[in-house]
Amino acid sequence: MIVGAGSAGCVLANRLSADPKVSVALVEAGGQDDKLEIRMPAGFAKLFKTEYDWNYTTAKQSEMSGRELYWPRGRVIGGSSSLNAQMWVRGCQRDYDQWGIPGWSYDDVLPYFTKAEHRVGSNQGNVYGTSGPLYIAELRSPNVTTAAFLQACEELGFERLDELNGRSNEGYSPTPVTQNRGRRWSAADAYLRPAASRPNLTVITGASVDRVLFDGRRAIGIQYDGGAQVKARAEVILSAGAIGSPHLLMRSGVGAAGELSDAGIEVVHDLPGVGKNLQDHLASAVYIECKQPVTLTKAESIGNLLRYIVLRSGMLTSNVGEAVAFIRTSVEEPAPDIELIFAPVPFKDHGLTPPTGHGITIGVILLQPESRGRIGLNGGDVTIDPGYLTAEADVKRLVAGLKTAKQVLSTAAMKPFAGGPMAPYWAPESDEELAQWVRERGETLYHPVGTCRMGTDDASVVDPSLRVRGVEGLRVVDASIMPTLNRGHTHAPAIMIGEKGADLIRSS
Ligand SMILES: Cc1cc2nc3c(=O)[nH]c(=O)nc-3n(C[C@H](O)[C@H](O)[C@H](O)COP(=O)(O)OP(=O)(O)OC[C@H]3O[C@@H](n4cnc5c(N)ncnc54)[C@H](O)[C@@H]3O)c2cc1C
Repeated sequence: MIVGAGSAGCVLANRLSADPKVSVALVEAGGQDDKLEIRMPAGFAKLFKTEYDWNYTTAKQSEMSGRELYWPRGRVIGGSSSLNAQMWVRGCQRDYDQWGIPGWSYDDVLPYFTKAEHRVGSNQGNVYGTSGPLYIAELRSPNVTTAAFLQACEELGFERLDELNGRSNEGYSPTPVTQNRGRRWSAADAYLRPAASRPNLTVITGASVDRVLFDGRRAIGIQYDGGAQVKARAEVILSAGAIGSPHLLMRSGVGAAGELSDAGIEVVHDLPGVGKNLQDHLASAVYIECKQPVTLTKAESIGNLLRYIVLRSGMLTSNVGEAVAFIRTSVEEPAPDIELIFAPVPFKDHGLTPPTGHGITIGVILLQPESRGRIGLNGGDVTIDPGYLTAEADVKRLVAGLKTAKQVLSTAAMKPFAGGPMAPYWAPESDEELAQWVRERGETLYHPVGTCRMGTDDASVVDPSLRVRGVEGLRVVDASIMPTLNRGHTHAPAIMIGEKGADLIRSS
């Protein structure tokens, strides 16, 4: 029984049902993924705050000017892989080695990345798998300003990466994307659809799971939509994501006993780590006007729509985040601490505010936040407190990253395009002003992890086999188990966790 048909849940449904002797039920709160804006790469922001989105809001962030931030999450077949920005960025060797968990070092997990991957086009250095189900491609119609950004990185002396997904990712690169011939290739496309006709796989959509059912300490099934129950013959696996999985554990009586009792929930097992250790990539952006009318601002024209539908090319195949640079803001950093993401459009307010003129965004991303937050309960509802910038070092790194972004925009390569600052960006200069900009306008890069932390210690939520500590027949398999964030993006590790999780389950 798998709860959640997102990135990891789709992998599990496919890999586990490959054995005809195993019956798999996959239960998903959202519905089908047949909307054009899901398929069409540039359309993802059109899905925000719709029925395809959980549409979460964080608690007030004391270090972010008291703001409550919008957090989209996919509520649809494919989960967040159906509305993400398609960037396939595993992170570097250090990200997995630093977990220090037997069986989860970089060399241990590498085969699971390559098992998933179906790289088409460039594969220099043979870093990718080429026969897996998940298509990874180059953008078909990258913007002319993206080439200028890459040239600017060269000008500043950054290293050109032949492939972004090798052991080290320090340097710059166009973004590899999860697309197949110009169309989004979600976890559902890669894993669920090919398995859909198997008689031993049942997919239940539109079913919001309320809780896991226990017999003593053994998970025996789930309850959804306020009453319907499904019994599990073998195991219940939570793949409901970094918010959904800890929330479900707590609603089922597994969490900090005091908090559960306060919320009127009967305690099955006192496991205080559930929901703690929340980490997210915080982004602060620089917006400038583009001197030439070449950006994605007019991407939705009839001509572009026709070009997309007939040829599967043009601006609507853009994933918005077309190129990246991973940099160290100080020589003391052991690996990149900041990522620059180049977008050939003013991507403001999560793309919810349509651009009024041609412009460019460089997003500055804090890769290894020291701040920690938590998922909690407010009665039956979930509360999200990412604790952004509660560690002072996080502000310093973002300020240093913003200065590098400004250097990029001042290069000769960017000169033909780079105009003046674009509102609401007011070209802050001093460290204090830059810190103020981060606090007033910083937003999520949509990468929460860590809330069902995997570890070898008793305080961890799941063990290295992804079994929930203190109960039986229950695992968590999704991005919530990551002990720390990767210096990359989180879709690739979520898929890897699904692949490795399936092997762990099959071999137990
Ligand atoms: C807007 C956006 C852009 C992003 N861009 C990128 C990117 O470009 N590159 C990248 O690497 N990562 C990106 N990410 C992050 C990445 O997509 C996620 O980290 C990854 O998909 C998480 O996988 P998961 O399996 O942990 O959870 P999800 O894919 O979120 O799946 C969880 C599933 O569980 C379901 N669920 C939750 N609760 C319940 C319940 N109670 N009952 C039934 N079902 C439930 C949800 O509906 C969902 O389908 C982005 C995310 C978002 C939201």
